[in-house]
Amino acid sequence: METEQVKCLIIGSGPAGYTAAIYAGRANLSPVLYAGMQPGGQLTTTTDVENFPGYPAGIGGPELMEDLRKQAERFGADIRYGVATAADLGSSPYKITIDNDKVIEARTLIIATGATAKYLGLDDEKKYAGMGVSACATCDGFFYRKKVVAVVGGGDTACEEASYLAGLASKVYMIVRKPFLRASKVMQQRVFNNPKIEVLFEHNAIGLYGENGVEGVHLVKRKGEADEQRYDLPIDGFFLAIGHQPNSDIFKPWLDTDEVGYILTEPGTPRTKVPGVFAAGDVADPHYRQAITAAASGCKAAIEAERYLLA
Ligand code: NDP
Repeated sequence: METEQVKCLIIGSGPAGYTAAIYAGRANLSPVLYAGMQPGGQLTTTTDVENFPGYPAGIGGPELMEDLRKQAERFGADIRYGVATAADLGSSPYKITIDNDKVIEARTLIIATGATAKYLGLDDEKKYAGMGVSACATCDGFFYRKKVVAVVGGGDTACEEASYLAGLASKVYMIVRKPFLRASKVMQQRVFNNPKIEVLFEHNAIGLYGENGVEGVHLVKRKGEADEQRYDLPIDGFFLAIGHQPNSDIFKPWLDTDEVGYILTEPGTPRTKVPGVFAAGDVADPHYRQAITAAASGCKAAIEAERYLLA
């Protein structure tokens, strides 16, 4: 198999990966970045980004990522298409296989592979993508001011997103499959105390309807197997909050992860337990998951890589 030696390999092309590439490029590390499955990352699936500092009028998600890519290229980052398919972090240089046909031997590695929002798997989620279906209330909630929305899920994220949306929308339904919320007590209280939020326990969404965007959700209310009631609920926006899956599978044999798969790093730093290997952005962040926090951790990872190579 073809091999290539690089000083700094970055995997992933979201805000963390591109910011790492900008900093590593400016530090003369000649970074090579593989863009992964979804070049540009999760932001390419959203419309307007209004909370990234520096854009008073907002910016389209794909446009922001295109700008970050160009900025990284300006400082010499070698940006390539390809997916990391295997990893050997047993000894330095670290070996990453790309598309099963090439091995990159890297002295430093920045893992910025992100996380993927989970969807229910309904065909209608794809049909109405960007037309009323979203997996990020902070990104898209603003477009539902004074409208009616539903949030699927009963964990901390769902409660947080429902509370956030209640500040904008006229009404928020939570669609929860169990007869209770999994979220922490404090988040549950926040939901129950909010007059705009109505929790629909033991409900499942089985489809969406609407002419030019979401106009409602087909629901099933179930109490045991025998008692099942189907009905349609008019809504304008359908938000998924059923968890994220960090894209860390190939690294798990080498790095510590939490039970979900988020890579564990030294608190406040992107350092993993393997020297010279750093994790930045959503793959190591179950809490904030914002473009700006991902970018910040990508910056830290590149600075760490530079210091590691100098040591
Ligand atoms: P969780 O895994 O905690 O919750 C997922 C929720 O989605 C559960 O209610 C689950 O239902 C539901 N769900 C999963 N799959 C489906 C499905 N196919 N159909 C319907 N419902 C489904 O994920 P979160 O993203 O909420 O939280 C992840 C971690 O991050 C947690 O540890 C959480 O505590 C933490 N977090 C903390 C916050 C804070 O402290 N402020 C904010 C956000 C997250 P069920 O219960 O039936 O399995």
